[in-house]
Amino acid sequence: MDPFIASAVFVFGLLFGSFLNVCIYRLPRGLSVVWPGSACPHCDIPIRFYDNIPVFSWLILGGRCRNCKVRITPRYLIVEVINGLLFLACYAHFGLSLATLKCAVFGFLLLGLIFTDAETHLLPDKMTLPGLAFGLLISLFVPVNDLLSMLLPGAIDFPVSSDISWRLFSFMDAGLGALVGASFLYGIGAAYFRWRGVEGMGFGDVKLMAMMGAFLGLRLTILTMMTASLAGSAYGLWTVLVVWLKRMQRRKRVFHETGSTARKHAWASAQVALRRHQMPFGVFLGTMGLLAFFFGQQFIHWYWRQM
Ligand SMILES: [Zn+2]
Repeated sequence: MDPFIASAVFVFGLLFGSFLNVCIYRLPRGLSVVWPGSACPHCDIPIRFYDNIPVFSWLILGGRCRNCKVRITPRYLIVEVINGLLFLACYAHFGLSLATLKCAVFGFLLLGLIFTDAETHLLPDKMTLPGLAFGLLISLFVPVNDLLSMLLPGAIDFPVSSDISWRLFSFMDAGLGALVGASFLYGIGAAYFRWRGVEGMGFGDVKLMAMMGAFLGLRLTILTMMTASLAGSAYGLWTVLVVWLKRMQRRKRVFHETGSTARKHAWASAQVALRRHQMPFGVFLGTMGLLAFFFGQQFIHWYWRQM
């Protein structure tokens, strides 16, 4: 790794992270990300260029607006740093190549979508749909290198080494990842709607999964959906337990209920809380997709060795 290029890539990542913060705030509100320039959401005073330097400005201003002193969320700092590190990780992993570009775009989009979903429960089309198109296109230049490309070469008469064959397989793999990911999530969403009568998953999640499928290919897409479901369920269970325990304590303390009555009442109200609480599933999908992109292949190889 060239230290000079590595630092440049990191700074580049910080700058893109800064732009990503603008997207996270504006896209769900239907605002333009290019015009007007950044302003404090509280006092509307435009932010000067020297107060808009990634990481440093937030630290120097102590996380407050220079004018009205209102608190600025640490998310600005966090997204910039993570995006810088992500770009750096892409470069460390793939060197200066098209694979790094693919990796950086994927990380950039997912980071934005994860934070947007966590803050607003929305996954803007302006991120997922261009991402889907880019993922399909880049598969023609950077091999997705997945299950299909390993299984099918024997079945079809293309010489494996030929240029056309890997591009075709890679593209098919990306397309299949998008298709299977999106249909599976759509199916789960429809089933959930029939069962509970409320929308558990929106079309945003379906489009997010299509986008991730195009970048990941079929096998890692399936891995992502499995691990995200596990993580989501664990989070749901944990939420219910925490709410249950807290309310049980409270009922005993405030209403002087006996242990068993308090347990029963608190359990019922924890159920209601879970039903009302809308889980940002995109956060789990995005995080697991990012992990799968970097470590999925190793994980699958490790897993097969254990069997
Ligand atoms: Zn202000």
